[in-house]
Amino acid sequence: MAFAIDAKVANSRLDRCREIMARRGVDVLLLSVGHDLPYLVGYHAMPLERLTMLVVPRDADPVLVIPRLEAPRVRELPGVFSLHAWGETEDPVGAVASLVRNASVAAVGDQMWSRFLVELINHSPHLRYARANDIVGELRMRKDATEIAALTAAGQAIDRVARQLHSGEIPLIGRTEAAVSADMSARIIAEGHDKVNFAIVAAGENAASPHHHPGSRIIREGEIVLCDFGGTMNGYCSDTTRCVFTGTPSQEIAEAYGVLKAAEAAGVQAGVIGRSCESVDQAARSIIDAAGFGEYFVHRTGHGIGMEEHEDPYMVAGNALPIEAGFAFSVEPGIYVPGKWGMRLEDIVVATNDGPVSMNNESHDLVTVVA
Ligand code: ZN
Ligand code: ZN
Ligand code: ZN
Repeated sequence: MAFAIDAKVANSRLDRCREIMARRGVDVLLLSVGHDLPYLVGYHAMPLERLTMLVVPRDADPVLVIPRLEAPRVRELPGVFSLHAWGETEDPVGAVASLVRNASVAAVGDQMWSRFLVELINHSPHLRYARANDIVGELRMRKDATEIAALTAAGQAIDRVARQLHSGEIPLIGRTEAAVSADMSARIIAEGHDKVNFAIVAAGENAASPHHHPGSRIIREGEIVLCDFGGTMNGYCSDTTRCVFTGTPSQEIAEAYGVLKAAEAAGVQAGVIGRSCESVDQAARSIIDAAGFGEYFVHRTGHGIGMEEHEDPYMVAGNALPIEAGFAFSVEPGIYVPGKWGMRLEDIVVATNDGPVSMNNESHDLVTVVA
């Protein structure tokens, strides 16, 4: 992963983590696969059967427990963490257990393999477990200036692909969804991403399935094509959805799209510091409800985004969390009429002191593409 943090950033993140740990009565953080570990010290654990784990005690220096053969990949940060490189015949969970022997509450990362957690429970039956996401997630929600710059660059890169879609540079009619998805994926990389995370292409009735898997369905003239695509660039994610129409949309589709566009814009405008996350959902949903499409908007309005495509905070009814400066999240209402058609429009928004700022600025219209 092409991103790096320096010792100063790492130490400030670790300090703030420890404040939250103290507040929540957590003695040690155990971070393995997932993004909490790279967020804190810049190292990405490989999703391997060999254990990598950052042990962050509340009142001692962190130790990165790592397979010896992975150690050369570590960019060491002097004064931030030390390394415990374990050899092939050693028991790494035993090593972690001895590091946490004085702790009573351990918070573990969401994506740590259950196998290691089960082994740790056996090694350390005295420990109580909590979720590390409740600690590191609180920090990761509030993006700093460097992170916002990375999200902005990723947003601009994905917008260039959206522009190619709108301009007809990406042929649609007569190709399969899968072929168009592969084409878009290549463009996501060509525009500067390190990795493609998804390139959903859903034509006609398939667009009614929000997470449709692009397949052998051939795109025809006179139908809607929903494209939801994103990748990772310098460690941060892009994610946008645009729909195009291969001809002139019917009155029904054009009207529904007008409702969707207004709902999305209202959701973006609601991304104001101090308002609740659920109010963003409410702003978009109320417009779709009022137009009579409420039963066809079957998911929450948005998700947080950063190092991961989906992370805290979620823009969903019931989430009263107030929006803070630096929150980055999607606004992506949709209308899905089963068996007929679907549509969604998505931008990434960052809450700032000057109001919501959209990372995605390519046209929000249902553009006709006859290509
Ligand atoms: Zn999604
Ligand atoms: Zn998306
Ligand atoms: Zn999204």
